[in-house]
Amino acid sequence: MFKYSNLFHGCVKIIQKSNARFISFRSIKKLYSIYFDKTIETAKSPYDFICQVGNPILRQEASPIDIKEIQTVEFQKTLDHLYKILKISDTVGLAAPQIGLSWQVFAIEVTEETVEDVYPSIRSYCQIKPQPLTYFINPEMEIINSEELIFHETCGSIEHFRAEVPRPKEIQIKALDRFGKPFCWKAEGWLARIAHHEMDHLKGLLYTDRMFPLTFEYNKWDEENYIDKEKNIN
Ligand SMILES: [Zn+2]
Repeated sequence: MFKYSNLFHGCVKIIQKSNARFISFRSIKKLYSIYFDKTIETAKSPYDFICQVGNPILRQEASPIDIKEIQTVEFQKTLDHLYKILKISDTVGLAAPQIGLSWQVFAIEVTEETVEDVYPSIRSYCQIKPQPLTYFINPEMEIINSEELIFHETCGSIEHFRAEVPRPKEIQIKALDRFGKPFCWKAEGWLARIAHHEMDHLKGLLYTDRMFPLTFEYNKWDEENYIDKEKNIN
């Protein structure tokens, strides 16, 4: 039989255990299961969305893929799913942990249209170039030129925010392609930045771990200020 004292005791234990400063959704979920003797259904991986910061999977070190797995229909379908979420989210790179899979896999695609959408001056300053869809499985990265370039960066797992992040100018990655064939890929500028960002995801790192903290900002803060001003006038 349920007792309030049990609920309180459970709540305190959960908070102590998680060391959280507030009651998280996980705590509420656990309390719900104690109270109603039922569990709340949560999304199963691979997700149909990009998970957000706070999801523990984004802080785990991803596991390498067994080469025998790569040719399986299930794995190939999962790669297609990763790409589908990349396209739906209108992003240029996506790592498997962002759809709930702690795997050493990521995909990059920068289309001609994406490049053309950028002002020519920024395009050439940031060295933004197209990149056909490329899957990187079990990637190993080497920094070729450690000179750091600083640009604004966003992440599908930290929606609506951006910050300036330093990244190496040139990198090289050795990985397996979607058919398990080894390849070596070199990139500089913007592409190197995207790949370095995705490599971080496989180590449980986010751009907020590398950013200049004072540059962290909400994407539309100035737009919202403007709207508020309009409202005040009316
Ligand atoms: Zn990201």
